[in-house]
Amino acid sequence: MAGHTISLEGRELVYFAAGEDLPENGHCAIGYDPAADEAFRDHERVRRVLGTLIHPTPKVFQALHWSDGRDLRLLDSAVKSGAYDESDFDGALLTEAHMVVCLSCSAATRVLLVDAGQVLFHRTLPERLRSHALVAACPQCQVPWTLRAVEVIDAGA
Ligand SMILES: [Zn+2]
Repeated sequence: MAGHTISLEGRELVYFAAGEDLPENGHCAIGYDPAADEAFRDHERVRRVLGTLIHPTPKVFQALHWSDGRDLRLLDSAVKSGAYDESDFDGALLTEAHMVVCLSCSAATRVLLVDAGQVLFHRTLPERLRSHALVAACPQCQVPWTLRAVEVIDAGA
């Protein structure tokens, strides 16, 4: 099995370290986004994960995002050796790839969005959002938006 199964708040996620390929069936995960998979394959603020909703299957293509400067290469090593701690994920938000359309300029932008409906990190979500750097404006027209976007995948589609 590609990736590394980790447990956070009693829930299992499959974590992919920098450069690791998703398994073939990972491409069947809900919300699988090839552009996001490629863009975040080796990224300083993002790690790809396969999560779940209520049942163990199907998997959902998601991403953990940090804006606190945590060294994700060190986290990769800790995850690979099983030496990670849940506190390593204190600064993380669970996100999914979505296409959003700017209400001001109508440009479509693909972003990682925080899904407030997720169970993981739900209890600590307000403080996680407060301490996180969000993408505050549309990358096309610079008009501020209220989306909980943390990273732009590609703009101007
Ligand atoms: Zn715009």
